[in-house]
Amino acid sequence: AEQGYRDRTPQSATAQARAARVMPGGNTRSSLWAAPYPLSITSGSGCRITDADGHEYVDFLGEFTAGIFGHTCPALERALTEAHRGGFGLSSHTPYEADLAEELAARFPSIDLLRFANSGTEANLMALTAARLVTGRDRIVVFAGGYHGGVLTFGAGNAPVNIPFEFAVLPYNDLQAVAQEFAAAGDRIAAVLVEPMQGAGGCVVGTPAFLQGLRTLCDDSGALLIFDEVQTARMAPGGAQERLGITPDMTTLGKIFGGGLAFGAFGGKAEVMARFDPSHPEAIPHAGTFNNNRLTMAAGLEAVRHHLTPGALEALFERGEVFREALNARFSAQGGAFHVTGMGSIMNIHAVAEDPAVRRDRLRLLHFHMMERGYYFAARGLIALSFPLGEAERADFLDTLDTVLAAGRASSE
Ligand code: PMP
Repeated sequence: AEQGYRDRTPQSATAQARAARVMPGGNTRSSLWAAPYPLSITSGSGCRITDADGHEYVDFLGEFTAGIFGHTCPALERALTEAHRGGFGLSSHTPYEADLAEELAARFPSIDLLRFANSGTEANLMALTAARLVTGRDRIVVFAGGYHGGVLTFGAGNAPVNIPFEFAVLPYNDLQAVAQEFAAAGDRIAAVLVEPMQGAGGCVVGTPAFLQGLRTLCDDSGALLIFDEVQTARMAPGGAQERLGITPDMTTLGKIFGGGLAFGAFGGKAEVMARFDPSHPEAIPHAGTFNNNRLTMAAGLEAVRHHLTPGALEALFERGEVFREALNARFSAQGGAFHVTGMGSIMNIHAVAEDPAVRRDRLRLLHFHMMERGYYFAARGLIALSFPLGEAERADFLDTLDTVLAAGRASSE
């Protein structure tokens, strides 16, 4: 299968070789890497993308969950053009900025005040910084498999975070482990930073009991509960926290609320966020040049007002639930070599096997075979549905999967 991939994608190989001369690994975004080299995609339209060799794929990855709008969206294009024509880089606040902040604060009851940033990574770093300064404590509880952007990665095999935070990395969904940590060090814990569903960790859904338990532990000890909703915000107008009925002290956002442009936001209780007020005697500096850039603010505003509507988000959530169940039904009917976890429109295919090497090879094979047949998703198994991905594409994906699985079983029998 890998040879087939190499034979079909010589231009991607060339692009990788060229890029590797100026960027380590040929890449400036680690998650895109996949052996032997990642696909080089040169254009997209709606839910379809085209690679450097001219092959077309239906995009089931959706920019690692940020691309909920698909690859072309006339309304976003209009909003961007308008913002651009009005002049950008004005060294000033923009009218879009407060509008977008109002929209987001209205959606998230946990957010009294918020600030914009250029990425989810930065939003999380700022939220942690605020939590430490406001609580006067140093320790941060995070979870193995957690991903909060770049240096805030707690997966197996990642280099330890080399920045001055003191992290306790605990098992996800293990409330007892967190309770023990709080019993031992509760008065030193500034914050618990958690994804309601671990996205990069493989779409592992947090149990309501675990997440509610974190709320209680934080309440009892004075630590701040921070929900990283960079991925899960799409689960409802007010994010996964709305579905769960849990109100964190701070929330970090990203991806979809930038309307397809680089975006991050963090917000929470007024008393915490007030530390960012420049007139505060001990204001936390947060002054990114592009924090409020007009293009992102305008695209985000258009997206929130007209595309990420409650109805659209609810429909996408349901579509995702149905699709994940259909995938699991096909996988178990075909022998159970894979299974799918996730929430709503974000899910991850996992190979089932004792041996991690067998799991890896099995998933790689499935990935190559699906790409060969014109379906794109992340090599690690991530699928994120977008608005333009239709019923027909989803049905064809399932049928193609059946064909691939049946062929695989025939060849291994
Ligand atoms: N948190 C989560 C849960 C994420 O999934 C991501 C990005 N995949 C981030 C934070 C980081 O966001 P960004 O890539 O915009 O820095």
